[in-house]
Amino acid sequence: MKWVDAVPVESKPCGSCSLCCKLFDIDWLDKPKPAGKWCHNCTPGKGCAIWQSVPARCADYYCVWRLDPELPAEWRPDRARFVLTHAHVDAPLAVLLDPGAPDAHRREPYKSLLARTARQILEGRGSTIVVFNGQHRTLLFPDCEIAIPDGVALHDIRIEGRNGPNGHVWRPVFPNH
Ligand code: SF4
Ligand code: SF4
Repeated sequence: MKWVDAVPVESKPCGSCSLCCKLFDIDWLDKPKPAGKWCHNCTPGKGCAIWQSVPARCADYYCVWRLDPELPAEWRPDRARFVLTHAHVDAPLAVLLDPGAPDAHRREPYKSLLARTARQILEGRGSTIVVFNGQHRTLLFPDCEIAIPDGVALHDIRIEGRNGPNGHVWRPVFPNH
């Protein structure tokens, strides 16, 4: 998976996918909605009823599948059952899980590529992928997934690397835990 600019790949349209209209917490519409509920303007499989006057924050959004030419068709969010996004303020890369598929990111081919990508981000930035399943959050590491305690802000988590018997590993340090 490449680190990509916010320019969508022309040959990868959203098609019948609308999953970002369900999985994002949206507060810029006349009727705000929490993550995991369909936007009232969305008809799943068909798209947005107000596409001609859609707010800029919707119109300008592209998930990683739309941006990364290397991600194949099975990564389209409605097939993968999660949205991969750079748009989270405190996470370099986030997985937003469809509530009906809480293990979607643990299946192949997703698991292996997400683990390799987590390693790249950890080596380059010292942070990692955050997986959101409603209110439940986990940190993804190349060798494991660790739950974030309730109430801990993402920006308060420190990640430490150390050498172990099986090579270099990273683990989180949570404040007051
Ligand atoms: S999740 Fe991605 S592919 Fe699906 S509708 Fe949103 S931007 Fe398009
Ligand atoms: S307004 Fe349209 S594009 Fe924006 S979240 Fe709702 S359905 Fe999706």
